[in-house]
Amino acid sequence: MTPRTVRAGAAILGLAAALGLTLGCGEGAPDTPAPARPSAGDKRPERGEAGEHAKGRKAPSAPPTPVAAKGNGAPRTVIFAVLDTVRADHTSLCGYARPTTPTLQNLADKGAVHTCRAYSPAPWTHPSHASFFTGKPVNEHAAIWVTASEVAINPVTRVRPLNDAFDTVAEDFAARGYQTVAVSANMIITEPSGLLQGFETKVVTPSSLGLRGPKLRKKFREVVDDLDPERPLFLFVNMYDAHDPYPEVPEKVPWLPTQPRTDLLPNQHDDASPYYRYVKGLASQDEVAPFLRSVVNGYDWGIHEADANLGAVLGMLAQHGWLGDDFRIVVTADHGEMLGEHQLLRHGGYLYEGMVNVPLLYFDATADAQPTFPEPVSGLVVHDLLLTGTLPDLPVTTITEKNDNDVLVGVIGAATWDGTDKGWCVDHDTALFHLATDPGEEHPGPLPPQSGLGQSLATTCEAVDRMIALPAPKADDPDLVEALKAVGYME
Ligand SMILES: [Zn+2]
Repeated sequence: MTPRTVRAGAAILGLAAALGLTLGCGEGAPDTPAPARPSAGDKRPERGEAGEHAKGRKAPSAPPTPVAAKGNGAPRTVIFAVLDTVRADHTSLCGYARPTTPTLQNLADKGAVHTCRAYSPAPWTHPSHASFFTGKPVNEHAAIWVTASEVAINPVTRVRPLNDAFDTVAEDFAARGYQTVAVSANMIITEPSGLLQGFETKVVTPSSLGLRGPKLRKKFREVVDDLDPERPLFLFVNMYDAHDPYPEVPEKVPWLPTQPRTDLLPNQHDDASPYYRYVKGLASQDEVAPFLRSVVNGYDWGIHEADANLGAVLGMLAQHGWLGDDFRIVVTADHGEMLGEHQLLRHGGYLYEGMVNVPLLYFDATADAQPTFPEPVSGLVVHDLLLTGTLPDLPVTTITEKNDNDVLVGVIGAATWDGTDKGWCVDHDTALFHLATDPGEEHPGPLPPQSGLGQSLATTCEAVDRMIALPAPKADDPDLVEALKAVGYME
């Protein structure tokens, strides 16, 4: 798409009305009146005041204390919504033929700016979120899969956690007096991952199916009821509906046939796993086409569910008075999903477009004008957009590492984009792709080392090698021990 610059003004009213009237239908009916709006020009709370308010405080009957003035760079409400696993080219926002993302389209129609050429910092959840929250590329925070790590964030995932030394968006907002709330339907975003630093309220799913579809909406209704109207809000919410297993497609969806939940069984390495059969090339020709159709159908419905949950979340916030003319919102994805291309499924470990090309959408109701996204643009810009509403000029780079899935171990490497050219280093081999003429990345060519892409990639790939050589994290790190105890992985 073509990036646009739009004035706020009338668009704000249109956006808020759309959120309240069309997105909140049936999901966000408030059981208490929306809190009164704070007036402009009043003092914001001093650093440290945040901790004086108990979590879960209800709206008082007296008028709330004003907290953030419009136009001062500190909106009363800042929202960071991650649509987990949503690749750009399967969103109707980005031209996909199926109507997968009506909420994103609605936001764009009402004045939000977006790009369909953002690139996630990494091809899976943990490093991408660490980059969003710190503004650092993966090689700098090094929060990656480490097979020899003693830190397990769930039974199958071993990582280097995001180190406490990094300042996160949530910590910065907390220091500015915001209540900081994380609602994650992705069970990787746990205490031991380090990603929850700075969040005062942490609602994390207990299982991969625990906060999907209506379950997320039900839980979010409790969260929004418990918000403190006296303090500004930073909300991070991860919607996990597009992640495998892909949800059941119900009856009477005009654009999809009904089908049961699609479970790829990726951790079961035998013939009974559809994932294993496909990526190992064991599936027969007759099997492959219907299998991939069911994958795409289930995935598309998952995107639609994630988009619907975003709409419901925004509707509830609007109905509780959090989306007046004093809010900022960023929506993106932490990575995409392979749908059979290059004989790959799911995500992590690779750098193909389907894996890392994601949508990015932004709106700041307090700004006179919205920024214009360059294309391509790095997902790292999320950090500054959230904190300051400014768009930094950053190189567009994605970094990946191997994992210990013995079916699909991935590669060590990095990709960098310049216009529609893409260079990568993969296990020390470089290649150049011309995406304009080769969107499927079928024809890698030599990457001239003295070209701009070649030079910037060489520097990044050396940094990636240094990151991979770091020692594996130990579980006896005192902070880690406490975090692991908190979630029951250690006694
Ligand atoms: Zn993810």
